[in-house]
Amino acid sequence: MKPRVGIFSLTGCAGDQLQILNMEDELLDLVSHIHIVDFQEGSSYKEEGPVDIAFVEGSVSTETDLKHLKEIRERSKVLIAFGNCAVEGGIQAMRNDEGSIDERLKEVYGVEPGFFDARLSKPLSEYVDVDLDIPGCPVEKEETLRAITSLLHGDTPLRFTYPVCVECKLNEYPCVIIESGKPCLGPVIRAGCDARCPGLGLDCIGCRGPVDSASGFAAEYSMLLEKGYSKEFILNRLRVFSGEVKEDFLGGDQ
Ligand code: SF4
Ligand code: SF4
Repeated sequence: MKPRVGIFSLTGCAGDQLQILNMEDELLDLVSHIHIVDFQEGSSYKEEGPVDIAFVEGSVSTETDLKHLKEIRERSKVLIAFGNCAVEGGIQAMRNDEGSIDERLKEVYGVEPGFFDARLSKPLSEYVDVDLDIPGCPVEKEETLRAITSLLHGDTPLRFTYPVCVECKLNEYPCVIIESGKPCLGPVIRAGCDARCPGLGLDCIGCRGPVDSASGFAAEYSMLLEKGYSKEFILNRLRVFSGEVKEDFLGGDQ
């Protein structure tokens, strides 16, 4: 019996599902080893019943999302938060501390509370147990394939627990902060992209989310302040892909 795999979607852009479809060279081999029971972006075919591995992309941003997530958790042995919306809450969580959902519905859409079943955007781990997270906006193809291969072999997939700077130095790329004062987020962002942007002479904008905790944000913040960047610029930059980055994360000297 092939493992039953579901690729589910909550609120997001569906870019992580698209990354699976983009695995053009590997896709046929992959589907010969698994049985896909749900994959909204790939097919309208759906099956009820238990799931061995559930990939869930998107954040919990509506009551419908929350109900769907709990149902997926109940039927799944392994649940993977797939992509930054699922892992951190995504771009839609970046202003969670600025007003209630009702105030925003009023301001943005001009509707009264309850018009949509919207909630403040949260990561999956706020509501259910998550067995593995695969970050990225979108996810990296190789990391996803490695995780699936490990799970099919009964192994625990590897997680990147160090920052982008490590990959940057292993590649011997010049540091764009030191060389040109660019506001690189590499020191606080989870590795796994092989330091793609510094390799092109660009600063990391943090698309893989924070490395395991926000504990390094205060040091990054002080360094970028010293380089002349404003508090608002730094906070906005951190918030794009790292979910709710509260001002407290920046430490005392604000
Ligand atoms: S360029 Fe960015 S990722 Fe590379 S060492 Fe400097 S801060 Fe780190
Ligand atoms: S933004 Fe940062 S984490 Fe994203 S690909 Fe570029 S270097 Fe990697």
